[in-house]
Formats: sequence, C-alpha cells, structure tokens
Amino acid sequence: MEDNAVDNSDHNEPDSGGGEGLDEDEETDEEEQQFDISLAASHSYMGAGLVAMSGRSVLEAGWVGRVPVVAHHGAVFPGETVPMLLPHAHDAAVLASAIRNDKLFGLLCPDESGTMVSGYGVLCEVFEAGLVDGQDAPSSLTFKARANHRFRLLDMPKRSVPIHIYKRMRFVEVRVLPEVQPGAPLRHARLASLDARRRASRTTTPLDSHMRSMDAVVTPWPLFLYEIFDYQRMRQIIKDYFKTIMFDKLPEDPVSLSFWVASNLALSPRDRLALFVVDNALLRLHMEVKLISRKSVLCCSSCMGEIARREHIFAMSSEGVHSNYTNLGGYMHDIVTVSTAINTELNGAPSAEYSWFPGYTWTIALCVGCMAHVGWRFDALKRNLRPQRFYGLCRNHVQPRAAAEPERSYTPPPPPPPLPPAS
Ligand SMILES: [Zn+2]
Repeated sequence: MEDNAVDNSDHNEPDSGGGEGLDEDEETDEEEQQFDISLAASHSYMGAGLVAMSGRSVLEAGWVGRVPVVAHHGAVFPGETVPMLLPHAHDAAVLASAIRNDKLFGLLCPDESGTMVSGYGVLCEVFEAGLVDGQDAPSSLTFKARANHRFRLLDMPKRSVPIHIYKRMRFVEVRVLPEVQPGAPLRHARLASLDARRRASRTTTPLDSHMRSMDAVVTPWPLFLYEIFDYQRMRQIIKDYFKTIMFDKLPEDPVSLSFWVASNLALSPRDRLALFVVDNALLRLHMEVKLISRKSVLCCSSCMGEIARREHIFAMSSEGVHSNYTNLGGYMHDIVTVSTAINTELNGAPSAEYSWFPGYTWTIALCVGCMAHVGWRFDALKRNLRPQRFYGLCRNHVQPRAAAEPERSYTPPPPPPPLPPAS
C-alpha cells in the first residue's frame, strides 16, 4: 500500500482478482459471507515465507539492557502486533543480528509534537521473520513482533532531540518500566456491615454505586478514590462502550485491558502519550474511562474537517478497531476502521496489491477540504462479501474532536461508483 497519491494505472481493474466471472446466477445463489476478521490480524499480505521464532524473553521491571531502537510516529502499547518491513540494509542487518540474539528491539515514541524524542518507547519481541540464517547482511527484512514492555531511555535527553536522529536503527540503553497493579487498597476502609450485600459479580448496579458512597462517607477517603480503585466498575463502562462498536473480546486483567483500551480508543497523540507514561494500570483505566465519556468525531488532522463519526468505528481485525499494518515501502500505518466516511475524495484507481484486508481492493482517500491523505477506501472484490465497503483511516492523519466543538458544514458523500459489469 502506498503512502501518497500514486499512479495505479497498472492496477486499474478492480475486478481483475477473484471478482471476475461472477454471472448473475452465481450472484443470486451465493450466500452472504462475512469477512473473517482473523485474516487481517494474520497480516497475510506480508507473504507466506515468515518462520515462527522459538523462545521468549521474560523481562522484569527495572531490567536494563542495550537494544537497537528506531523512531516510530506514535505510541505503540504493549500487546499490539508490530508488522515490519525494513527496506534498508543497515536496519535489516541490525535486526537480523537481534533475531539471532534475544529477538528484542525498541520503537521510540515521539513527544506531543511528534518531532522530538520523548524518552519513552516500547520493547518488541520478534515472533515470526523471513529467514535470516546464513545471511549476515540481508538487504531487507520482513518480520512480525509483539510489543511487550514500556521502557525509558537510561540517559533521558537533557534537551530536545529530534526524533529523526533515530530514523535508522541505533543502539541505546533502556530500562523497563513497572506495570503497577494495586490489589484493593481500600479493602480495609469499608463498612463491613455491608459485606453481605457486596457482590463479586462483573455487573455494576445503582446499589454498588450507593455502597461506594456510603464507604466514602465514613472513611477519610473521597468518593473518587473508591471509583479509581473499583476495577469492575471501570471494566463495565469500557465493556459497554466497546459493545456499541461490536467488539467484546476484552482482556481480563487490568494491565492488559488498560493497554488494549489505549490501543483501541480514537485519541490525540497527546492523550496517547499521557496514557503511555502512566505506570499504574488502574490510573490508566481511570483516565480512559474519562476519555470514553467525551463523545467525539474523527477529523482531518490538517484542516479539522469532519471525516468520520465515532459510532461508525468497527472492528475489521480480531485485534480490535485499531491495528498496525506495513506498506511495501516499510512504513507502518496505524489504522482505525470505519464503516463510512464523509468529506473524502478518492484518488487513483483501486488496487488489490499488498492489500491488508484479503478480498478487498484499496483506493487512496483524501480530505476534500485540504486534499491531505487521510486513509483508504476498501471495496470487496466479491459481491457476497460483507462488509462490501469500509474505510481505513490513518491514526496520525485523523484526530478526535469533541462533537460539541464547531463543525464544518456537512457535505454529503459522493455517490458510489458503478459496480463492475457482470460478464
Ligand atoms: Zn483536511
């Protein structure tokens, strides 16, 4: 997939793949087929030549080590899959060496401006890679890794350091940050007489809220502290929120859940970084619950024109509504999928080459307000595949805005192009 507007004249036949030869009988006989969202999570566009790596590194908080790191355009949270294609021989050689060693490398996170080193990053462990045995100097390297641990640079920059200094892999010393997960610190600051009515269930009811208030009244601790430490209450709010966008496979433990939510909420780079630097999982969840309550629309980062509404966000990958995908140039995009978008204009012809969603062609989508690239429209090659169409928006090209803020006037979306003729 390309980053910018390109001439796709070689791929201007949207139906040149599996769609050809659909006659009317087939169309009417074929049952609707829902897209298998595990296909997108498998990153099959990277090819079948990746080999699983054995052995895992278990790192404790406080672990200090020297690892190769490279700049990324945003915060990547532990738990995310990181598909990468390193087209540069230097980077490929450094990574090939790391794969033979402990399989670890780091992605550096920029500061709020996106241009300077924040001092934070995430350690990733390669779990599948193109064969590197016997090749000390591969010219390029394709692999998949899992983000595992947040880290801080051991030598935090004293003054602003541009992130582009880390455009190529460089070795730095890092320290793994702790993931604090308090148990129930307010367990002893409660009305024991209410214990019979407390339930260990996952649901939250007005009675639970009432009991929290009663506990707070008779102890020195304010009500908000009881709310911060009430994991089940926060989990329920998060579950309800993601249920509205049809995704209910949430991680169980507070640390994994807090990272998953950070990965899957539509957030500004500033809010993402704020969630990233927090060591306490319950505090991160508390911040996320507050962010959830802000209903928002997704806007073009360049001109703030509205592109999509929150309620149109849906999951096209079993990993969630946001996923990372790499293009042929080695650029890793962070994509949020939406069922419909407005104020966009397509550029170039549809292509099925290196499509992140097997069975769909992609076409570059630009913001009509400023012609900035905001993502791609994906169209099903077969008429029985559902959804027939959706958009993948780049997280670093769109950003959320509270719905209450002034909006640009609504422009109706352009009429859909005619379907390719059935032969
Ligand atoms: Zn724009």
